[in-house]
Amino acid sequence: MAEEQTPDLLLIDDEDDPFRGKGAADTAAPEDAGRIINMGFRAARWAFEPPKLAVPLLSAQAKAAGHMVASICRPLLPWKRKAFRRLLENHPLAAGITTVAMFETGLISRIIAEIREISPHTVIILGGHGAENSREIRALGDLTITRHGEGILAEVITALKNGTPPDRMPGVAADADGSLSIQGSLRYEGIQHVLRPDWSAASSACRRYPIEASRGCTFNCSYCGFPGKAGQVFRPAAEVVDEMLYAREMHGIRCFDFVDSSLTSDPEFMLELCSSLRKSGLRADWRCFARPDAFDRAPELAAEMVAAGCSRIFMGIESIHDHILSGMRRGMNRATIERGLEKVFKSGIKIHGNFIIGFPGETEMTVKETAEFISRRPFSTVYLCTFGMSPEMLELAAKEPARYAHLSGKPAKGWRHDGMDYLAAYNLTLWAARKINLSKLWPTAFSPGSNNPNHPPY
Ligand code: SF4
Repeated sequence: MAEEQTPDLLLIDDEDDPFRGKGAADTAAPEDAGRIINMGFRAARWAFEPPKLAVPLLSAQAKAAGHMVASICRPLLPWKRKAFRRLLENHPLAAGITTVAMFETGLISRIIAEIREISPHTVIILGGHGAENSREIRALGDLTITRHGEGILAEVITALKNGTPPDRMPGVAADADGSLSIQGSLRYEGIQHVLRPDWSAASSACRRYPIEASRGCTFNCSYCGFPGKAGQVFRPAAEVVDEMLYAREMHGIRCFDFVDSSLTSDPEFMLELCSSLRKSGLRADWRCFARPDAFDRAPELAAEMVAAGCSRIFMGIESIHDHILSGMRRGMNRATIERGLEKVFKSGIKIHGNFIIGFPGETEMTVKETAEFISRRPFSTVYLCTFGMSPEMLELAAKEPARYAHLSGKPAKGWRHDGMDYLAAYNLTLWAARKINLSKLWPTAFSPGSNNPNHPPY
């Protein structure tokens, strides 16, 4: 980190605390025990987790465009704060904050207050889901870049260096509330190719790095609000392997998490990637997101992935009921799911399964069947996610009310349909997790904290 130089761009990564106290979640101070847990959590995450992938990718592209860039993770940790203040005392032209894991205004307000106090003319640029989805967060910054921002951020910094204020930059538009935003790209538009990420802000204790082989998603599930769905663009497999080899050489890293929405959606790419990894001699350990239908379509895939170092898959299963899978537009049925899972279980790759509880068509009986299905199979862990309704899903239900069991109400948790409402689905989620864990005599099934009706998005 170039602490004594004046950066054009200071990139900042942080994430919300797990304990945010009672009452107004973003403002209330947690109890003492919560504060201690939060501090321990933040310290451990800083030591062992690298920054979100956006930060090293943004840094690499901005540097390639000729800008001077510094990055800092978790700047308000006691032992990071001095370095953060010193960077700000050099008055960077812009500060870019990723809100990939900041969904409330508490922490980001404190970071921005520090920037405004020490370097009031620094232009604050926000990116990531938190800012994209929250008007309150967007209002804290001077400009929000939506979607992927490597290309556009480098252009914004060039414009700032040329003296153009954000409200005069081409493509910048004011929202109804007056906050300024500019659109980035859904996939790789705006950059020539992905550069090797700049991991200079990562703690040396990080042993597992995120990596991306594609952007977007081939599929078009009805409940999914991912803007990049219905189209996936893959990087050349050789380029991905080159990035992994570089991470090993520079940082001694052999463990990777692919962040792609579904790494296995193109079997041809996947088989090429596995073959290149085997030939590279990297002997990496890696994990990825996938869907069971990929292993049914390409029966050799699971074995190829094991041979190339895959140890764990986050498997989006979502439902085992054909009428629900059809409403979800998953493009697979229960038979496909069973055959695909069987291949992966047999290969020895550990499976974390993801299921949605409460989608239109769900009843108490279907939840019981889902719990039994999970109990009878050797999942390592399972998330049971209570259905959260996206605005797109609400529109779809209005067009086809019978197909979606007369789903109505407010996104994300204020919904009801013929079978249940959010609260009933949440209670069934907790019931199913208990039932599965009792059957396995081991905590296997979890209801993520975001299921809680009091956890945002509401
Ligand atoms: S596979 Fe996942 S990311 Fe792709 S559309 Fe379906 S839910 Fe969304």
